[in-house]
Amino acid sequence: MEIVHTVAELRRWSRMVRAQTGNTVGLVPTMGALHAGHASLIRAASASCSHSAVSIFVNPTQFGPNEDYAVYPRAFEADCALAEANGASMVFAPSVDELYPEGLSGRLDGGSRPIHFRGVATVVSKLLIAAEPDRAFFGQKDAAQVAVLRRMAADLRFATEIVVCPIVRDADGLALSSRNAYLSAAERAQALVLSRAVRKVEELAAQGERRAEALIQSTRDLFAAEPEIRIDYVELVDWSTLEPVATAVPGTLFAVAAFVGSTRLIDNTILP
Ligand code: AMP
Repeated sequence: MEIVHTVAELRRWSRMVRAQTGNTVGLVPTMGALHAGHASLIRAASASCSHSAVSIFVNPTQFGPNEDYAVYPRAFEADCALAEANGASMVFAPSVDELYPEGLSGRLDGGSRPIHFRGVATVVSKLLIAAEPDRAFFGQKDAAQVAVLRRMAADLRFATEIVVCPIVRDADGLALSSRNAYLSAAERAQALVLSRAVRKVEELAAQGERRAEALIQSTRDLFAAEPEIRIDYVELVDWSTLEPVATAVPGTLFAVAAFVGSTRLIDNTILP
């Protein structure tokens, strides 16, 4: 497995690979601290493309000023081993200066969620332009991010196909996240309320409940029993516009975000 640090090397590699008839390139963008969720994307990329690249970049422009950029877990050696074990052909690990040569990372001081998605869209468009992959793989875990990136890929006419892979969970239901490493044992137990809320909404929807208000209330009821946890949002939205809906239809996104201590966790489901 090759490891490169510059955009020029990544582009040279991708063009060399794709010059051979029949070869395809899959890209898996990550912020590192790789776990089994990332591994599932890397395996999906390796299975559907002849070559796969994993990018590892803790992207400063998607963190708000009071967020965890400085302390976000970094584990480069272990990440490379995991990427290789799951079939990656190359790891692209640029410095901040390599991707933001003109100090755009000053946006760190900028603000909250619109800034986050602008940061994600910026870094992923840079990666897609550099790697020119046939497919890029993302987790449904970050469902709002998927919506933003699908729209971006359509608006900018990227030739890359956006592939969405299912959420990988621990045995007890907690969605895997690099940020789970921040949780104490007590918080880890409290955090299970997120996946319980998701399962409850899935159950109610399966029983025919379609009213957004009722589905959302079921989550509020579960969280009421966990006073230590603060809900950031709980919403039922159209997955392509992220606009709230009053009535769930097939494909509606139920998404919840909550602070467990100072750690912000998310979970979601797409209603059948
Ligand atoms: P991150 O390193 O957190 O930026 O995540 C990189 C990619 O891995 C994103 O497309 C995430 O949606 C995906 N990912 C993170 N956690 C999971 C998970 N538990 N299951 C599936 N995909 C995940």
